Amino acid sequence: MARITCPETTLDEITEKQTRGRKLFYGCSKYPKCDFASWDKPVEQPCPSCNHAFMVEKVSKKRGEFLRCPECKHEVAEAPDASPKDSTKSQTPA
Ligand SMILES: [Zn+2]
Ligand SMILES: [Zn+2]
Repeated sequence: MARITCPETTLDEITEKQTRGRKLFYGCSKYPKCDFASWDKPVEQPCPSCNHAFMVEKVSKKRGEFLRCPECKHEVAEAPDASPKDSTKSQTPA
C-alpha cells in the first residue's frame, strides 16, 4: 500500500482505521495528537491543479471511480494502472 503522509503534520503516515461502528476511514497515525481524518481513501497522486500531496478516491454511480483533490476540489479520472514508483514519466510542473 502506498504511503500517504498527513497534510497536517506532513511527517506521519495516514492509516486505515475503523470507527466504533466499524466504518472504515483514514486517519493520521498520530491520532489523537493530530485529528486529520478522511472518509475517502487517499491516493498517492499529487493534484495537477494545486500540487496538493495527494488526492482522494471517490466513487459515483454515473462516473465510476475518480479522484478529487481535498484542497481545491479539482477532479480527475482515476489513472489507469499508473505505478507511482515509475519515475520515468514524472512531470515537471510548469
Ligand atoms: Zn497528522
Ligand atoms: Zn488541488
